[in-house]
Amino acid sequence: MKQFIYADNAATTKLDKVAFEAMIPWLTEEYGNASQPYSFARNPKKALAKARETIAACINAHPEEIFFTSGGTESDNWAIKGSALLNHDKHATITSAIEHHAVLRACSSIERMGYPVAYVNPDRNGTVSPEAFKDIITDNTNLVSIMLANNEIGSIEPIEELAAIAHSHGALFHTDAVQAVGHIPIDVQKLGVDMLSASAHKFNGPKGIGFLYIKRGVKVGTFTDGGSQERGLRAGTENVAAIVGMATALEQNCKNLDENQKHIESLECKFLDDLSGLDFIRNGSEKHLPGNISLSFRHASGEAILHRLDLNGICISTGSACDSVNTQVSHVIRAIGVPDEYALGTIRISLGKENTEEEIYQIEKALRQLLKRE
Ligand code: PLP
Repeated sequence: MKQFIYADNAATTKLDKVAFEAMIPWLTEEYGNASQPYSFARNPKKALAKARETIAACINAHPEEIFFTSGGTESDNWAIKGSALLNHDKHATITSAIEHHAVLRACSSIERMGYPVAYVNPDRNGTVSPEAFKDIITDNTNLVSIMLANNEIGSIEPIEELAAIAHSHGALFHTDAVQAVGHIPIDVQKLGVDMLSASAHKFNGPKGIGFLYIKRGVKVGTFTDGGSQERGLRAGTENVAAIVGMATALEQNCKNLDENQKHIESLECKFLDDLSGLDFIRNGSEKHLPGNISLSFRHASGEAILHRLDLNGICISTGSACDSVNTQVSHVIRAIGVPDEYALGTIRISLGKENTEEEIYQIEKALRQLLKRE
């Protein structure tokens, strides 16, 4: 029996049962190395090709544009460092102030190597406006990396417009879509991006596996040197079971995307209605990820709320999971200018397809009770 309420789906998600079952043969009987020439390697090799096709179909890409990685962090690092180090005519990178640390720290790394990085600020809702972006892009911009949806506040960025502006200056456009893939429709052609990062554990796949979409013809440097896997760009024996699990989970989520989205949105509406009367700010833009609810309570401590909810068996987050040891106001909450008396009282509740109305009611009840005591 379930002992707790999980409402931290932006940190990670439960592994899909169909995906889990699809992984088993590759962990048990079919353990051959996909790069070997003998017949025992034939099935793993076919499984990799099929997974690439499945993933490509889910985001309207071509199979040869999908490169397997160890997850979102690696995909972001590859896109940013691989672009900066390869292109010697143009040197500058642009990103936003509200990116995940996988992007921000990869940008700090290239800055230390002498490649300049400019940071565009979002508006109060966490949206990077095309106007603000136009003000800082130049013809020396080599790469732009702006996330598709923010992990802390859920805002969805106007990627189509931003990518078009980047291209008009001859720059490449990468988007960190880790929070969006498997949750909202993604069409790389329509978005017009050159690279896109995704991570399986955010869409009910296994942990430690992800992919980087690299558009045909786009040149990015090698991420790891070694064997000829991933067309020589990312060497290392493939984790066939995890790759099959990722493709199956994505296929499952994409098949049920509308249904899941409707369910999560109705839980979100109910939850916010139930919270009426409490003194809080809802962060993020109107166009946001379903179920990503960032709330800042006046004169409260997000950390205390997290721990008290934990005592009630409820898992939520203060900022992003990667920052749960950091008690300071997150860079995202700072960048969007949440007033001081609210900023420290920020929590993130992120609902998933498995959550129920009863759970929403339990979270609301526990939250109301503890805020009365604060
Ligand atoms: N990018 C975003 C927006 C994320 O939310 C995360 C994880 O929280 C990552 C990148 C890192 O992904 P991974 O955990 O697969 O390394």
